Amino acid sequence: MRTWLPFATMSLLAGCATHEAPQLLPADHNGPPELPAAMPHVDPADISTERMSEVTRVLASEDFQGRSMGTPGEEKTITYLIQQFHLAGLEPGGENGTWTQTVPMIRTKLQSPMSFSVKQGASTTALRFPDDIYLSTVRDTNEARIANAPIVFVGYGVNAPERNWDDFKGQDLKGKVALILVNDPDFEAAAGDLVAGKFGGQTMTYYGRWTYKYDEAARRGAIASLIIHETAGAGYGWNVVQSAMGENFNIVLPQGAQQPVLLQGWIQRPAAEALLKRAGYDYETLKRQARSAAFKPIDLHATFSAQAPVELTRLTSRNVIGKLTGSAYPNETVSYGGHWDAYGIGAPDAEGRTVRPGAADDALGLAAMIEVARKFASGPRPQRTLLFTAWTGEERGLLGSEYYAQHPLYPHETMAANLTFDTLQFAGPVNDAVLVGRGQSELERYMEEEAKAQGRYVTPESHPERGLFYRADHFSLAKRGVPVLLDMALAGAYDMKDGGRVAGNRWLDAFTAKCYHQPCDAWSSSWNLEGAKQEAELFYAIGARISNSRDWPQWNPNSEFAKVRAQSHDARPGEQIVVAPRGERGRR
Ligand SMILES: [Zn+2]
Repeated sequence: MRTWLPFATMSLLAGCATHEAPQLLPADHNGPPELPAAMPHVDPADISTERMSEVTRVLASEDFQGRSMGTPGEEKTITYLIQQFHLAGLEPGGENGTWTQTVPMIRTKLQSPMSFSVKQGASTTALRFPDDIYLSTVRDTNEARIANAPIVFVGYGVNAPERNWDDFKGQDLKGKVALILVNDPDFEAAAGDLVAGKFGGQTMTYYGRWTYKYDEAARRGAIASLIIHETAGAGYGWNVVQSAMGENFNIVLPQGAQQPVLLQGWIQRPAAEALLKRAGYDYETLKRQARSAAFKPIDLHATFSAQAPVELTRLTSRNVIGKLTGSAYPNETVSYGGHWDAYGIGAPDAEGRTVRPGAADDALGLAAMIEVARKFASGPRPQRTLLFTAWTGEERGLLGSEYYAQHPLYPHETMAANLTFDTLQFAGPVNDAVLVGRGQSELERYMEEEAKAQGRYVTPESHPERGLFYRADHFSLAKRGVPVLLDMALAGAYDMKDGGRVAGNRWLDAFTAKCYHQPCDAWSSSWNLEGAKQEAELFYAIGARISNSRDWPQWNPNSEFAKVRAQSHDARPGEQIVVAPRGERGRR
């Protein structure tokens, strides 16, 4: 057990020894917090590395216990963020004049005894959890039970009309188990294949994400989805797949909403290969067939059974939202975001540390966002409304932003852009800016121009196969058509002012291997936040430009998200639709 310090002993006012211990406000307090925080005294119009460091230090401190949803760490986080938003000069932007939006959630965990098996003809094969198969549920249920559901191999499980691709060919999956290949149909395509480049080549599209595959199977009525795990295609090993040990989270879905599959997860490649072989199919041959648009689902004449009790917990979490009301067009918005949650408490690392404090991911992102907010609040009020949101539950599946997207407090149609900070680097100043998800929207041009004004150039992400564009909160808004930019230091090595790309790679590799989602992602007084400051300045400049213009940044016509945005065109006064030449997005 961990000792829990009373809040009043927190070193919230470190650096200000004469100050009395703060009397902190309850997190649901709606008025302005009365307390001044001991922030370094730097002009509010400047992005301050000292203030960013201090905010990160507090959020990543032991007392906040890794900022997990539904824990005392959440209470402290929300209280602190409201205080910081207020001090930055924001107004409450949440529900009913408050600073927050309530996000009802469920937490599930599969319990022992559990059993999973495949029946083919007279023989039944047990699948061991979590060695052969890894499953969890995001349904509101106390039990996961599946009896003899037919297994259908659906190739890559993709329905992409804009690419003339449909792996389902009308196949009804009601009550069935979808067995699905990892990543996009062209991930392993050779240069001459017809499919090559159709899904971005090595760049993962939304169709390659497991979230998409589970959702698509659910839309077709499947009871379970199983993705065949391969490390290259997934972007991570089986150790990452099984690390949550059967736990999962979801937002509480509205009445009548599409239900997710009952069980979702992964099957190890050797277990899948054996299953297919017994059904008379060779795995590599099937993969080749699935790389063709002519592919049709295959009934494997096998059934899947599962039984596991589910520990179901209900919790209420919150998004924190602040705003600056626009001077001329208050109903049009530009939004900034970052997530407040981290990975809570886990198994001890080599040094015995158990708290996973999420310092760079994403306390530092929030600290940058707060600096941007303060800079806006200290200057002339922009014409459009600015929103600043600290999302909950990002690490558990973009939950806070998804809930907001389903229950928006400001119309999506007139949100001109969303700019998201998720994980900034702390290794010093840089010569470039890393673009995540190239070829998506006009915002990339804004980024290029504003980076240039800062003396930086734009570098495309170096790990497009990781699909990071689909893995942060901006994506929940992108799905509803809002043009987005993501600032994420995990997407590629920077060209560091000191040491160039080699030094950038050294930081990225070390952080990804040792610290990402681990106790090692901790604050340090030796951080150099000059690079994080450049990111805050860049997003400030882009947001300032959009919020003081009549611009409606456009998706590229071939983007997955152009269609949904076009549907609300009439809601945007004066929007000029950019018609780019066909195949524009194919340039990547
Ligand atoms: Zn993150």
